Amino acid sequence: MAFEGLTDRLQKAFKNLRGKGKISESDLRETMREIRLALLEADVNFKVVRQFVKTVQEKAKGADVLEGLNPAQQIVKIVNDELTNMMGESATPLVKSDKIPTVIMMVGLQGAGKTTSAGKLAKKLKTDDHARPLMIAADVYRPAAIEQLEKVGEQVGVPVFQEGTDVDPVQIVQDGLKEADKNNNDYVLIDTAGRLQIDENLMDELKNIKKVANPNDILLVVDAMTGQSAVDTAVGFNDALDITGVILTKLDGDTRGGAALSIRAVTDKPIMFVGQGEKLDDLDVFHPDRMASRILGMGDMLSFIEKTQKEYDENQAKELTEKIKENSFDFDDFIDQLEQIQKMGPIQDLVKMIPGMANNPALKNLNVNPKDLDHIKAIIYSMTSEERSNPDVLNPSRRRRIARGSAQPIQQVNRLIKQFDQMKKMMNKVSNGNMSGLSNMMNS
Ligand code: GDP
Repeated sequence: MAFEGLTDRLQKAFKNLRGKGKISESDLRETMREIRLALLEADVNFKVVRQFVKTVQEKAKGADVLEGLNPAQQIVKIVNDELTNMMGESATPLVKSDKIPTVIMMVGLQGAGKTTSAGKLAKKLKTDDHARPLMIAADVYRPAAIEQLEKVGEQVGVPVFQEGTDVDPVQIVQDGLKEADKNNNDYVLIDTAGRLQIDENLMDELKNIKKVANPNDILLVVDAMTGQSAVDTAVGFNDALDITGVILTKLDGDTRGGAALSIRAVTDKPIMFVGQGEKLDDLDVFHPDRMASRILGMGDMLSFIEKTQKEYDENQAKELTEKIKENSFDFDDFIDQLEQIQKMGPIQDLVKMIPGMANNPALKNLNVNPKDLDHIKAIIYSMTSEERSNPDVLNPSRRRRIARGSAQPIQQVNRLIKQFDQMKKMMNKVSNGNMSGLSNMMNS
């Protein structure tokens, strides 16, 4: 798996800080040393590592102003934020031209995955944007290249324009663009030639293609497995062509992370997509924040959150966080939560997305009966609105009334109130920076 070594080492670096109420200068120095080594070992560019460590260190020193988080959590958060920053903060979308077609020029060294990525991108545009792309085969040097692009085009249902290998690539591109005009294609993807290394002839040819095609995006395809040399390639192509973004391929392999973490910082050009497999739908938009979390070993959590968010609007989430902070979470909020959870599907599936939980033997037989949730809801609905918003008033006689009203045994009512109370305490602790949740996560 990608980044495995880096994730392990970073988690180890944080482990030293766990449970510490206060971090000394030497604790911080030691942690930073570990982080620096972890990044260098992952083949991250040394200048990038130096800057990263410096920024994290400065922020960590100034961080005691941050309230509510304990020091270890603060550092994890700073590292997470800085890893994200290093990769460009947010996802960078493709440029869309005002008038059709939008032209995307694909460049890169041989074997990086250019042709495959062109096919993947064409498929993505077709599926996500209902686009009608045309691909132009402008690699006339590698005999099989045209055939390969045609095969990919066939698989994704996208036409390929080609004129064989005897025509000048610049001419092919010009003719291909005319063809796109004629057919009203809204996107054109140009598959250009690669070489084993950057050379002047290749760059000249690409510059000439750029001149006639006037592309909206020039995407450099680089192989993540090649680490630092992917970064050097990016620098070379960027100097010659002023690329607009990068597609990082083979992230499904055993890559150490150097390319993903350095490219943006070194070239100032964003990674826009990542290839995560040989199949033609294995192309994903690159989200720096998610990549940072994946590197820190919190990857699964994001799928969990995403799934939650689908059912959940942002304002609701904010409101809830506020309530938890203010300790004013009540039974009305609780019932909202229950309903959200019920909409999301079987609880046991959701719990398993939490890092470390998937293989937890204790969860093997976890089975939440949907009926139990209905009983809980019945109890809450039998409360008056005063009781729901202020559970402290729930004295024994009120509890008996609720039990009767909901047709549930009194023990069940008592249990629910007790559990609610415990849950509220725990939420409050977590929001006030108790480390146990996070350290469990890091232990996993
Ligand atoms: P090009 O010379 O740059 O056009 O490279 P190709 O598109 O021919 O890809 C070279 C090899 O890499 C092929 O075997 C592809 O199947 C493979 N490949 C491309 N992208 C990925 C990826 O994201 N993951 C994996 N595992 N293989 C990939």
